[in-house]
Amino acid sequence: MRRALLRPPHLNRQQARTVLSIDSNGALPITIRNVTKTYGPVHALDNVSLDVKSGEFLTLLGPSGSGKTTLLMVLAGFTRPDCGSLKFGDREVIRTPPHLRDVGMTFQSYALFPHMTVNGNVGYPLRLRKVPKDEIARRVEEALATVQLAGYGNRRIDQLSGGQRQRVAVARAIVFEPRILLMDEPLSALDKKLRDQMQIELRHLHEQLGMTTVYVTHDQREALTMSDRIAVVNHGRIMQLATPRDLYERPANRFVADFIGESTFLSVTRQGKKVLYEGKALKFDTPPPDTDNLLLMIRPERIVLSSGRPAGTSNNFKATATDVVYQGDSFLLHARLPDGNQIVMRGAVRGDRLAQMPTVGDTVTLSLAPEDTVLIDGSED
Ligand code: ADP
Ligand code: MG
Repeated sequence: MRRALLRPPHLNRQQARTVLSIDSNGALPITIRNVTKTYGPVHALDNVSLDVKSGEFLTLLGPSGSGKTTLLMVLAGFTRPDCGSLKFGDREVIRTPPHLRDVGMTFQSYALFPHMTVNGNVGYPLRLRKVPKDEIARRVEEALATVQLAGYGNRRIDQLSGGQRQRVAVARAIVFEPRILLMDEPLSALDKKLRDQMQIELRHLHEQLGMTTVYVTHDQREALTMSDRIAVVNHGRIMQLATPRDLYERPANRFVADFIGESTFLSVTRQGKKVLYEGKALKFDTPPPDTDNLLLMIRPERIVLSSGRPAGTSNNFKATATDVVYQGDSFLLHARLPDGNQIVMRGAVRGDRLAQMPTVGDTVTLSLAPEDTVLIDGSED
């Protein structure tokens, strides 16, 4: 891309903008208000409101059928919602047709034209916009260089690997330098190694180009890796909008806690300002949410095995090891609490620690520091 190629590689985005006077208004904020879309009895989108900041990489994360694609199609203009409003910057666009929205999009299926060459595919949005021929050639070349496909222009789509096709789809989405980029599960068809690599590449591309990006995935790790913020979607509603770290550490409800990472949930009761588990008051740093349906959420990697006398500053749980699994980089311990609840812990495997791996039947003490003692709203949404 012209903007991107201008940027000296040793400058970050902010510096580059200042030095090169790149218009940081190039990106646009997106304001979604009360958008609803029904298909018969199905609420694909149920009163969705969401603000995407200018230049942000925001991910819609949710299970299959939760409404992610529908929301992206509404943003692109291919789906008209039943009601609600949509602004790009100050401009209301809900009635604006797709080609006038200045939005680049990659589709879940890539949707490349199989009978065209790479050049033909990437140049398509420019031909649609009646850009002169020689400029098309130049910009296509730049876009291909940006996605590291320089020299592939004359190949046919069926001569490309999955990863290369995916890059062609990205090149086609960015070739007309849209101010907003939408990507619908662009990596889901790739194998894991390539997916991991492309996650980093797409992230770099976003840093280079700086366009407001809405990215869709059902893969929680991908979302955590790539995003500035994540909106967790379920049944056409936004369950929580937060940074990856806040989402993982402070999920708003049980659905989010379950969907992102693994956890053990224990029922706890409130007694005045105290929170009790099995009659014992828990120590915690962050006050619990105001609900009667409280759960203690325990992430497997936040528990430590106490040997000898457990630290009095932590919450300690006596349990019996029921399963111990060596997994190379770590071990998994399943243990049963006296009340019958199961708790899962992940321990580090290092030379000295391996010796600490318990065996089945051992009585263990599991410790949870107050800062890792997270109390969440137990309701599903
Ligand atoms: P996701 O992308 O999160 O998997 P979608 O947005 O594709 O979910 O779909 C959300 C819900 O809307 C699903 O229940 C789906 O079956 C339904 N849906 C989506 N598009 C249509 C359509 N064109 N006609 C009927 N139902 C649809
Ligand atoms: Mg989808």
